Amino acid sequence: MSPSQPGLPRPPFKTTPGSAAAFARTLPRPAAMSATAIFATAALAAGAYALYVRRSAVQAEGLEGRPPFASFGFRSLKLQSADVVNHNTKRLVFELPDPAVKSGLTLTSALLTITFPGGSWLPTVRPYTPVNDLNDKGKLEFLIKHYPNGKASTYLHALKPGDAVTFAPIPGYKWRANEHAHIALVAGGQGITPCYQLARGILADAADRTRVTLVWGVNTDDDIVLGAELSDLAAQHPGRLDVVYVVSKPEAGSMHVAGHVTREVLERAGVKKGAGDVAKVFVCGPPAMEKVLVGGKGPFGGAGILAELGYGKKEVHRF
Ligand SMILES: Cc1cc2nc3c(=O)[nH]c(=O)nc-3n(C[C@H](O)[C@H](O)[C@H](O)COP(=O)(O)OP(=O)(O)OC[C@H]3O[C@@H](n4cnc5c(N)ncnc54)[C@H](O)[C@@H]3O)c2cc1C
Repeated sequence: MSPSQPGLPRPPFKTTPGSAAAFARTLPRPAAMSATAIFATAALAAGAYALYVRRSAVQAEGLEGRPPFASFGFRSLKLQSADVVNHNTKRLVFELPDPAVKSGLTLTSALLTITFPGGSWLPTVRPYTPVNDLNDKGKLEFLIKHYPNGKASTYLHALKPGDAVTFAPIPGYKWRANEHAHIALVAGGQGITPCYQLARGILADAADRTRVTLVWGVNTDDDIVLGAELSDLAAQHPGRLDVVYVVSKPEAGSMHVAGHVTREVLERAGVKKGAGDVAKVFVCGPPAMEKVLVGGKGPFGGAGILAELGYGKKEVHRF
């Protein structure tokens, strides 16, 4: 029976199952009060944060002449173009406030997008790594894959030129030229973007002689969205970049390794401590792939493939 039927006491206010108020009402009184206070404080903090982000985004207009992401801060950038790359990926190009100025991002840094899908008060915050040359002036270019029901990627795929998005920079791994003779980048799906940015940055630096082996796992041949760029880089820098594509559902006649990024695939690519000179491994991929590679969280997470291949925690970096 519903409590709203005649003769039954009505609740003092409307709740939905799972709401803060409903949760608070299941607790003893002092605990219920503190839970309500916590939810109220969290809601206030989220509201203030959302207002702050929206306000500081507007302030990005005073940035002419300065690299907008050289220091931490929220910047709003306008979408210049959105082009379909394949069945699930778009190339989004954003204008920097000053067309004559670089972004200020350094190698391996990424940007957080702060979006409010569906007008929500709570922001959705996700990292994305630009794929254009960091020396480019006036623009940032991203390859964004759409995940079905993915909050940020659905929002970003729906943007039209002229729409604005708020970004904040996040520093990445501090790359130092020639720290290692040879590194491996292991990417899954759209996890290629930080790996590509690093490979490209290393090869663009004439003083950096690091060799790079990239092992990239994708679902289909069509998902190899940076294939032409990687072939160009390998051709321009002979002996410096090896790329192994691993395709789980290859098309007939595919030239690539079929299956997943396994221990055997990595070993064959030379990613094994002591067997070659790969001293450091960088990883970026979907959570399930990263777990297989680096092990689960906590003391019972288990060791991943890279530990089995001899790499200690300090020799593996997750973007
Ligand atoms: C350092 C870094 C850089 C990144 N750069 C890029 C980039 O340049 N381009 C890009 O498209 N993405 C990039 N990503 C991934 C991106 O940050 C988001 O995780 C992705 O867009 C999904 O967010 P969402 O809000 O759309 O999906 P959510 O709402 O978070 O999730 C929706 C569904 O998608 C699944 N899902 C979420 N993330 C992934 C994932 N990475 N792989 C597989 N399934 C997933 C979830 O399990 C869930 O089922 C990067 C991630 C990191 C850590």
